[in-house]
Amino acid sequence: MRFSKYTHFFDIGDGTLGVFHSLLVRTVFLSKQEKAEIGAYLDEGKVLTEEVRKTADYLYSNYYIVDSDEEDENLYNQCVDMIYPPAISNAYIVVTENCNFNCKYCFISDIVSDNDRSKVMTKEVAKASVELLQKTYERQKHDYDKTITFYGGEPLLNFEVIKYFMQEVDRMKTTAYWPDDVKFAVITNGSLLTKKHIEFLRQNDIALSISYDVDKHSHANRANRLGYDTYDVVRNNIQLCINEKMPYSLSITISEETLWNKDSVLQEILSLKPLTIAFNMLIPNKHLTPSNTYYEEATDFMIECFKRLRSRGLYEDRMMRKVQAFIDNKLYLYDCCASGGNQFVIAPDGSIGICHGYLNNQKFFSANVLDKNFDFRNTPDFTYWKKRSPLFMPECQDCECLGICGGGCPYAADYMHGSIYALDDRFCIHAKKVLEWLINDLYEQTKRK
Ligand code: SF4
Ligand code: SF4
Repeated sequence: MRFSKYTHFFDIGDGTLGVFHSLLVRTVFLSKQEKAEIGAYLDEGKVLTEEVRKTADYLYSNYYIVDSDEEDENLYNQCVDMIYPPAISNAYIVVTENCNFNCKYCFISDIVSDNDRSKVMTKEVAKASVELLQKTYERQKHDYDKTITFYGGEPLLNFEVIKYFMQEVDRMKTTAYWPDDVKFAVITNGSLLTKKHIEFLRQNDIALSISYDVDKHSHANRANRLGYDTYDVVRNNIQLCINEKMPYSLSITISEETLWNKDSVLQEILSLKPLTIAFNMLIPNKHLTPSNTYYEEATDFMIECFKRLRSRGLYEDRMMRKVQAFIDNKLYLYDCCASGGNQFVIAPDGSIGICHGYLNNQKFFSANVLDKNFDFRNTPDFTYWKKRSPLFMPECQDCECLGICGGGCPYAADYMHGSIYALDDRFCIHAKKVLEWLINDLYEQTKRK
């Protein structure tokens, strides 16, 4: 008998160890003394006291201790067998690649200048996209979350096509199978938002997410195409949402400036009371390579915000997904829908890809909505992305975050190291810090109880 290769120990600091099973996503706490005694029993056959024997039995029956490598292997295979077949969960409809902003950290900004494909979606492509989604949902009939997200560039620059798309969905609902749990969302920079848009979004139950970096200094990264600051116009339009009682979420990119202004950012989030927030860490691009210190500090900031905001019932999306998996003892295999090959990105010209990071060079855009025979389940690109999870990556097998990190952003891994199957190592810094915090936080909560 020995400790499983998936058992990892975390020093909590008061003579206690957090013992985390990286495949079953389960945690128990032991004293260092208990761990030493169990170690001596496993290594040298030393006799255990009755109390420690009970602990060892518990660890054995919960796979923290195993008889052999084969037992670990069986457990791993069982986890792999539980993975669902691919199903499209999110569809980004890129209604335009044009944007009226020129954000400094935008990792797809080169799209605007670098390709000569059609940059504005037509009604014909929108109609074909609805038909493709209908067919896809009908084929997969899966209870996965399903979201259609209008995206850009700046999607409100092509509002007519968003309206048309929704009319087509309504028409489709009356003539063919359309699941009733499909959600809709739009991610906008907020600068063009008017009462007319708000009314339409409300009527069509489209969730509104505004990219806004919350304080004036941080938001200065989001200048418009002419180089002018956009803070006031976006803040005014957020106020419009508040006045109109339109729920909205904030998508906040954590820049170096955000970290310099942490307190004011947090205060402003609390005063704006968005429905949810989502933090984005910087993705490297050819103009920007953030340091490892940045990822550490950004994670500390996210943890601090999570702690402060949860007491007000406000949850940050990215952290919450991991917290939920940790609480539910569930494997968290993918950190974004692209990672599992569970996402469509439909470009304005109708080409279908998996991740919007590749809109520019069209890598992994191997089909088109006008192709009536397209089925993502037989398309090699989608199959290739399906296994992009730490569970299948050799470098991840001994990592404590194996079952909880989701593997970060494959696009960033590809950008930095030439393959989506490389490590997104900037994200590893984040994932390891978050897990350590989760275990410490669980210990504090358990002690309080
Ligand atoms: S791979 Fe990265 S850039 Fe692409 S959808 Fe996922 S998180 Fe976003
Ligand atoms: S991606 Fe990084 S943090 Fe996640 S399991 Fe692999 S090595 Fe660990």
